[in-house]
Amino acid sequence: MSSAEPEFATLAVHAGQAPDPATGAIMTPVYLTSTYVQEWPERHKGFDYARTAHPTRLALEKNLAALEGAAFGLCFASGMAATSTVIQALSAGDHVVCGNDLYGGTYRVFTKVFARFGVSFSFADSTDPRALAAAFTPKTRLVWVESPSNPLLRITDLRAAADLAHARGARLAVDNTFASPALQRPLSLGADVVVHSTTKYLGGHSDVVGGAILVNDEALYKEYKFLQNAVGAVPGPLDCFLVLRGTKTLPLRMDKHGANAAALARHLVAHPEVAKVHYPGLPGDPGHALAKAQMRGFGGMISFELKGDLERVKRMISSCRVFSLAESLGGVESLIGHPASMTHGSIPREERLKAGLADGLIRLSVGIEDVKDLAADLDAAIDCSR
Ligand SMILES: *Cc1c(COP(=O)(O)O)cnc(C)c1O
Repeated sequence: MSSAEPEFATLAVHAGQAPDPATGAIMTPVYLTSTYVQEWPERHKGFDYARTAHPTRLALEKNLAALEGAAFGLCFASGMAATSTVIQALSAGDHVVCGNDLYGGTYRVFTKVFARFGVSFSFADSTDPRALAAAFTPKTRLVWVESPSNPLLRITDLRAAADLAHARGARLAVDNTFASPALQRPLSLGADVVVHSTTKYLGGHSDVVGGAILVNDEALYKEYKFLQNAVGAVPGPLDCFLVLRGTKTLPLRMDKHGANAAALARHLVAHPEVAKVHYPGLPGDPGHALAKAQMRGFGGMISFELKGDLERVKRMISSCRVFSLAESLGGVESLIGHPASMTHGSIPREERLKAGLADGLIRLSVGIEDVKDLAADLDAAIDCSR
């Protein structure tokens, strides 16, 4: 065996997963247990209580760490639980600089929950390094960005954001849910913390809710590990198994999601009833050059605006037959959504408009179906919405 680090697709299938030593089972067992028998007080096989340590979860944590090129991984019951853990490591008085185009639930937990505990948050356009720099205060401990962002697919220069944070004594956390590690590895660009909703591309089949944190710094890992056990928002063993099953095909799926999305984005740009398309893979997109430099592909998410009013948008998204009208993203099936009333409904309208999220914006999670059927479905729905 060569000692070189295996390539990404090999890690996706094998990292963290050795055959079960008791039986040789090739798949990681779903250990349905809450506790473990000890030989002697504190003498055990590394597992004492299932909130603290769990073998199926450990396999997933190792797998995700390998995929992000991280030394350590920690899994949580949801993406929001992972996000909350990063903020729980801060203290009252600390300040966070955030991008202004974030998942609605992230905005909600920051402003409606953690603000009550004395952590303060400022929102700035993270695609503009000057705007990001201007949002810092002497209390800033953390910078939080999504790239590509949700739902406008804006690209933040992660290397520049990391340099800026580090120069001010802060850390950079990147929510890498939209790209997945198959397309972008923020730790290699200088980020300190990567957060995922494994519900999306990592799980990949819309059958599980989960989250993860990946880091290289051991002290930071110990802090988050302490919180994982102390707060207790851990995923169940079957959920961990499902995400492990998902990551095995992550590179294959991301290639297909990306190819389908690129074709659909071009199709929509050429459509006379479409006013605007946001997709970093389009050469005219403001984030295209940066995305090309820091990502291995442009991903499966598109957002666009139709000509006409909001009622037309509602008619259009309700008349698709292959695309399902639903929240979430990253599964094999195509989804269509209306961020202003669905995923981003918890952001006040004024804030949404300021960030460029129009009332009529439509978001697509492009699946792995045949792209001809996807394009025909959108065309038919646009036609009958007139
Ligand atoms: C879905 C999502 C989350 C939240 O994850 P859950 O698993 O739903 O808790 C966070 N960030 C992004 C970018 C998301 O899409």
